[in-house]
Parts: sequence; C-alpha cells; structure tokens
Amino acid sequence: MKRKTKLIHGGLPTDPHTGAVNVPIYQVSTYEQEEIGVHKGYEYSRTGNPTRFALEELIKELEEGKRGFAFGSGMAAIHAVFSLFNAGDHILLTDDVYGGTYRIVSKVLSRIGIESTFVDTTDLEAISKAIRPNTKALYVETPTNPLLKVTDIRAVSELVKKNNLLLIVDNTFATPYWQTPITLGADIVVHSATKYLGGHSDVVAGLAVVNSDELGEQLHFVQNAIGGILGPQDSWLLIRGIKTLGLRMEAIEQNAKAIAAFLEEHPKVSKVYYPGLESHAQHELSKTQADGFGGIISFDVGSDANAVALLKKVKYFTLAESLGAVESLISVPARMTHASIPVERRAELGITEGLVRISVGIEDIEDLIEDLQAAL
Ligand SMILES: *Cc1c(COP(=O)(O)O)cnc(C)c1O
Repeated sequence: MKRKTKLIHGGLPTDPHTGAVNVPIYQVSTYEQEEIGVHKGYEYSRTGNPTRFALEELIKELEEGKRGFAFGSGMAAIHAVFSLFNAGDHILLTDDVYGGTYRIVSKVLSRIGIESTFVDTTDLEAISKAIRPNTKALYVETPTNPLLKVTDIRAVSELVKKNNLLLIVDNTFATPYWQTPITLGADIVVHSATKYLGGHSDVVAGLAVVNSDELGEQLHFVQNAIGGILGPQDSWLLIRGIKTLGLRMEAIEQNAKAIAAFLEEHPKVSKVYYPGLESHAQHELSKTQADGFGGIISFDVGSDANAVALLKKVKYFTLAESLGAVESLISVPARMTHASIPVERRAELGITEGLVRISVGIEDIEDLIEDLQAAL
C-alpha cells in the first residue's frame, strides 16, 4: 500500500462490529465478560479501547513498526518510553531537543536516578565519546526545534547497534508521511501527535511505535501500569486528522519552500534555517532520509526588539506556541517554547533573542508572503 492510500485504508478502516466506515468513539470504560477472563479482547479501557486500538494500529502501519501506542500527550508518550529504563541507566540525547524533553530528562528522570548527557547528534564522534558502560539508549530528534538540525538516522543506528543501545527517534517534525525512522534502523519512534498528525490545533496527544514484539510487550506493560492513555474522543479526532496528513503536508511543503526562499533573499533577515534550502548544512543528508522538509522555518531578525515588532505586525501568522496545524503560527523560541532552557545553554545552542520560528500553514501563499513582507 502506498503512503497516501495507507492514510485512508491503514489501521482498522471500518468498524469490525458494525461495518461503520469510521471506527466509532467507543466511550466506554469496561466490557462484559461472558465468563471470568472470557471476553472479546477488551476488559478495561486503560488496558485497551477499540477506538484507541484503531489509532494504534494506524500509526503502527504508518511508521512500519510492530506495535503502536497512544498517550494523553507527546510528553506522556516520551515519559512512557523513558520508563523502559532503570535507575543507574544512562541516556544520550540530541542537544537541542524539544524543551519539554529537556525538562523531563533533567528535572524528572534525574530524580529517579536515570542519567543523561546531551550531545550534538549530527557529530558521530561526539556520540561515540559520550557512550558509557551504563548507556542504554540514544534519543534523537530530527529535524530539531527550532534550528532544524538533521541527524543521519542510518549512521547513528549503525553506531547504536554496535554498542547495544536502543535508538529512539522523535519524528514529530517530519511525520511518517515524509520520514519513517524504523525503516532507517530506529527501535522506537515517538510523536507529539498534537502537531502535524492531529493537524488542526484541536487535540493534545502522543504516540509511540516500536519495532519488535518484545518492546511492544514492555511498552504495553508501561502504558497500562502508568496509565497515561489517550481517550476515545481524542483517538477518533486523531484518526480523522491523519486522513488528510498527506494533503496537508504537500500543501505545507509548497508554502514553506516559497517562504524560505523569500526570507533568504530579504535584507532584514540574517539567517534562515530550513532543511529544504541548499544553504542548510544538512540539506543533502535530509534528502537521503526524508521525502520532504516539513513546514517549520526559523530565521534571525537580529534582536529581541525586531522579533517582537514582527510578531505584532503579522496578520495571518498567529502568535502561539505549538506548530504543525493548518493555520500558520509564529513564535519567539527564546521567550516562549525554549524559555525553560537556561540562558547560557540557549546561547550555546544558537537560539538567539532575534530568532523567530514559523509553522507554515495551508493558507494562500501570496497572502503569507505579503504579510511577512509588510511586517518585515
Ligand atoms: C510538542 C512536542 C513534544 C511534546 O508534545 P506534547 O503533545 O506537547 O506533550 C515533543 N516533541 C516535539 C518535537 C514537540 O514539538
């Protein structure tokens, strides 16, 4: 099945019980047992719910993994995956990882004895040097937020296998429409489905997909034990969102390419970060592992004052955190999404005060460019 068909026919395309062409919202917590332990596959909705299961089957197929899991947020999915590890284990992570991931690792996992080191995962030697005897996993986000750094998934997966580590990839920015990390050697993929998969800024959700039955058993144990599951209504909304993922990602791609080219030529913009630009350091690498570059563009307007002035003037770019929806959004990472990262660390990472991030939507490209032109 090709990508676009899979978005529509993947998972459980119809309700196996009624033939309804969409799996309904099974708003139910418990299920009748004919005898003790004899049931139709469902006992209690924390453990399994038919609507959630349809979504879990769908994301499993889209990511080409063995088993999928749906959680109440991206962070709940990431927390569940980190809960596969034990006190005393060490995890390596991409240095400019999502702020919430940085926070859970440095402020929550650290309390329960899980150690971590942040490395530049575009540098294989730096990863090798950071591996310790107790290192258990490499957690990669690619492309990253907000600087759109791209890690070579194939190369890190070889390194990880040699050292017996698990490779976990946050695939939120690329989505399985453009990039399937498991086919490139990853063991686990995580998503903030709040972003492109949902696609309409109307649901907070997280997904995880694993590449083996063994990891599937382990993660299901954690999902059921901790209980940070996605409810049936939100599962249904996500399935609905995913049906148009292809259409949206194609439209976003066209708009983003045009905006990146426009910004790169603009005299008030000193630097543009977008993997689709030839000037991007990992443009060629990006083409070898993803079929599209996505809709996030960051650019530097020189100062906090310039960034704030720009935000105030734009009409079609809504000032908001989050990304990946049909409407274009704009933010200043240093003040918003990355405010929880200490100032010195932000400077090290290159997240300057004049850095503006946009999440390109599906509006008419002429309106979007005119808007940016006028605001700049
Ligand atoms: C938003 C985001 C998360 C966290 O997801 P939530 O759904 O907000 O909990 C994790 N990773 C990336 C790359 C994100 O953009």
